[in-house]
Amino acid sequence: MKIILATHNIHKRDELSKLLSGNFDVEVLPSDFPEIEETGSTLEENARIKAGTVYEALRLPTLADDTGLEVEALGGAPGVYTARYAGENAIYNDNCIKLLQELEGKSNRNALFKTTLCFIDTDGTEQLFTGIVAGEIAIEARGSNGFGYDPVFIPDGSGGRTFAELSAEEKNIMSHRARAIQIFLDSLS
Ligand code: IMP
Repeated sequence: MKIILATHNIHKRDELSKLLSGNFDVEVLPSDFPEIEETGSTLEENARIKAGTVYEALRLPTLADDTGLEVEALGGAPGVYTARYAGENAIYNDNCIKLLQELEGKSNRNALFKTTLCFIDTDGTEQLFTGIVAGEIAIEARGSNGFGYDPVFIPDGSGGRTFAELSAEEKNIMSHRARAIQIFLDSLS
């Protein structure tokens, strides 16, 4: 079955394509498809907005991903504002630096990475799936793989390595995104 990924983010696209290969014929969003504004106040709302916009335009089975990092000592921030934590035009490194600064001197560094997927089937039926991985925020950025907050997030079970210190294959076994995809795939069988 054909599925279109409702994202222009190449990192998400790579991870999702690998996770779905064998089950779906994955198509990427046309490069001229307009950027979709994330106006929701939850991951679920944003995932629905992204999937709905693409489905309305292309009428193909669509999968959207909205992801957030929730840090316990920061009351769940940055959460739905994960992409814009250090400001509207923040790049990945700005966000990591801001997070490390906010946690300076704090001993509780527990955090959750969450991915909510919204799948819209050919007939317009919509379903949501959430994958969560627990871990902690590192004292300093480490590693050069991955993207976003990968250099500062140490998932439980990684032997103390950040996501950015794992290979793409290792991250794709234990990540929040991998877990959400697994739940999605399980729902199909
Ligand atoms: P969104 O789902 O596009 O709103 O993503 C929010 C932000 O979360 C992105 O800009 C990235 O900074 C970050 N992010 C999403 N997925 C990951 C991941 O797998 N690792 C690290 N950071 C991520």
